[in-house]
Amino acid sequence: MIDKKDIYKILNQNNKRGNMLSEKLLAILACPKCKGGLDYKPDLNQLICNNCRLIYKIEDDIPNMIIEEAEPLK
Ligand SMILES: [Zn+2]
Repeated sequence: MIDKKDIYKILNQNNKRGNMLSEKLLAILACPKCKGGLDYKPDLNQLICNNCRLIYKIEDDIPNMIIEEAEPLK
């Protein structure tokens, strides 16, 4: 499991270059439910787990990785 402060650290580094989530952050982000990789949709500000069919929203450049707050993928 990734510590939230590690996410902030990477985001802070990333924000100097732009608002897109860095490849480094995406590499460590995994679905908290199945631990699988996530599909990043920069235009929608979403991280999608195709395994669990869940959408994790990115709010203020911080990915919300709370399973209970994820939305089902239609
Ligand atoms: Zn998953």
